[in-house]
Amino acid sequence: MPNGNYCMECGYAESYCECEEEFEWNKGYYFEAMDRCHTIMVMISELINGHPGIKRADAQKNIDKALGEIMEAYQKVGAADYDENKEDWT
Ligand SMILES: [Zn+2]
Repeated sequence: MPNGNYCMECGYAESYCECEEEFEWNKGYYFEAMDRCHTIMVMISELINGHPGIKRADAQKNIDKALGEIMEAYQKVGAADYDENKEDWT
């Protein structure tokens, strides 16, 4: 059953929940996830990384951590895609 941003049962975001409605995985979700991670990284970098309000509030390390975490997620998704779909990567 969906709860907040993601389903507590299947772990997918509410709109992709496998539990209550028909949802079918397709390998394009890996590319989509990487593209979204990249988009968010660009937004963070351009909009709040080094922003005066962030710096003055001593929040830059939080921004650095967020960027690092999303970069790690991007790399994990890419690795999973490669592991499962090597034939598409050539
Ligand atoms: Zn679910």
